[in-house]
Amino acid sequence: MAYLSHFFAFSPPPERTVRYGRVSAGRLIYLRIFATLPFIMPMKKIIIFLGPPGSGKGTQAKIIAEKYNYGHLSTGDLLRALQTKKNLTAEETTALAEMKRGRLVADELIYELVFKEIDRYIANGQGVVLDGAIRNVAQAKEYQKFFEQKKLDSEVIAIEVALPDAESFNRLANRRVCSACGEIVPIDPAAPATTCPKCSGEFVTRADDVPAVVEKRVREQGNVPLQPIKDFYKKLGVLKVVDGTQTIQKVDQDVQKLI
Ligand SMILES: [Zn+2]
Repeated sequence: MAYLSHFFAFSPPPERTVRYGRVSAGRLIYLRIFATLPFIMPMKKIIIFLGPPGSGKGTQAKIIAEKYNYGHLSTGDLLRALQTKKNLTAEETTALAEMKRGRLVADELIYELVFKEIDRYIANGQGVVLDGAIRNVAQAKEYQKFFEQKKLDSEVIAIEVALPDAESFNRLANRRVCSACGEIVPIDPAAPATTCPKCSGEFVTRADDVPAVVEKRVREQGNVPLQPIKDFYKKLGVLKVVDGTQTIQKVDQDVQKLI
């Protein structure tokens, strides 16, 4: 990518006004290079998905990770993966024990685990997609500190999959999970499916998806607590927003345009 730095070093032509029919050859080349730049810029290595519960950020994170062979890091998945892992480190053993006691795992332990995973992917030449990993500004700062230490701060992009809290509530309260394969399906009130389209298993409502629990989740992880995190990334100049009320495919298209 050495040639890219040459493009950046290119100084703009002194003449700043464009006169129709009198664009110099030098200026044309300059314009062409800058019009092409977005297409030859390498993809960011750290993609952070933000959004309220039910916004589909997890689905989008998964799509991007699979398409570009990036690591998909969701804190919950990481902690769950520990349960089947052998040869745990001291930090991992503590995290697992806390989790089994039903306690929230301390932030420091999570950083330890996630940072190690990020290191592993970056060393391997891959990028990472962070999904639901950052829940408050303190955590966002801690991650940013880590990225700066690793000289990865210019690789960060935060994508908000925007969704109003009311829509977030509706989506979570109206989804069912297959008791056989775990597939999560939104319920269409006009034509409610009773069996799983994937395996014909029976649908159940997850304990997490009953209205009282959903309401609590939206309050704790919805747009109000999200705002200061968004402000943090906006200030860094790396926040992008996609409309999460669209279909999964359309949101994906919008995301692809940004990365
Ligand atoms: Zn199923």
